[in-house]
Amino acid sequence: MTRLQFKLLKVGHCSHPECIAQRGGRWASMLFPALCGLLRHPQRGWMLFDTGYSAHFMDATAPFPERLYRWTTPFSLPPEEMLTAQLQRLGIAPGDIAHVVISHLHGDHIAGLRDFPNARLITMRGELEAMDQRSRFGNLSHGTLPALLPPDFRQRVVYAEDAAQVSLPAELKPFEHGFDLFGDGSVLAVHLPGHSRGQLGIVFRQEDDRLTFMSADACWSMAALREDRGPTWLARRIFDRNDQYQDTFRRLRQMQAGSGAPWLIPSHCAQTWKAYDDSTR
Ligand SMILES: [Zn+2]
Repeated sequence: MTRLQFKLLKVGHCSHPECIAQRGGRWASMLFPALCGLLRHPQRGWMLFDTGYSAHFMDATAPFPERLYRWTTPFSLPPEEMLTAQLQRLGIAPGDIAHVVISHLHGDHIAGLRDFPNARLITMRGELEAMDQRSRFGNLSHGTLPALLPPDFRQRVVYAEDAAQVSLPAELKPFEHGFDLFGDGSVLAVHLPGHSRGQLGIVFRQEDDRLTFMSADACWSMAALREDRGPTWLARRIFDRNDQYQDTFRRLRQMQAGSGAPWLIPSHCAQTWKAYDDSTR
C-alpha cells in the first residue's frame, strides 16, 4: 500500500451551544474547528480532504435567506488560518492541488473549492442529486450552499463510485468496502450515509504506517462517540436520514472498540485538533 504524507489543518471554526450539537450538552458555547486533510501522493501529488471555511463563505451567505446560515452558525476565520495562506507557507500554490475529496456539500466543508482551479473534485452522485432535488430553502435548511461550487464544477467532478470497489483493511470492520480512488490502494473512500446522502470518509496509511480514517461529520467528536452521545433533534434536522446516521455512528463505535482501530479524525473534533496541534508544535 502506497504511504502518504499527511498534515491536518484547521481552517476556521464555528461556535454553537454544546447542547444543540449533542445530547446532555451544556448551554455554553463550544468551538467546532473545521478540519481538513492535506495529503501528498508520491505520484499523484497534492490532495485535499475538504477545504473548511473561506472568504467565499461570506459572499455565499450575504443574500437572504442564505444569511441565516451565518447568523445561526457564527464562524471565525483568522487570516493566518485561510487555507490558501497555510498552503503558501508550505510552498504549495493553489494550482498544485490536483484533487479535492469532498466529504459532503455542507458550506463549512466546501467553501474553499473555488480556490483550486486545477483540482479534480471527488464526490458521490447521491450528494449532488440531493442538492439538485432540493429548493433554495431546502438546501439552506440542509446546510448546503450551491453558490460555493466553482462555475466549472460539473466539468471537473469525479464520482468516487466509478472507482473500483475494494475490501477495506480488517481494522476498519464493520466497514467492509471502499472505493480505490487512485487504483493503487493508497486512498480508499468510504460511504458514510446519514449526515448527508453521499458523505465520504477517506482511509489511508501515512508514511509512518499509521492507518488514518477521516470521517467527516459521521460523529461530531471522539467524546460523543466514546460516550455514545448522539446529536440532538435540532442538529438532526439538517441530516439526510437519521436512521442511516445512527447506523454509521454505531459502526464507528464498533470499529473503535476493535483491536488496531485506525486514527479516527472527525472534522469538528476540538480534542483531536488540540492533541494533533500540541504534538506538532
Ligand atoms: Zn456537515
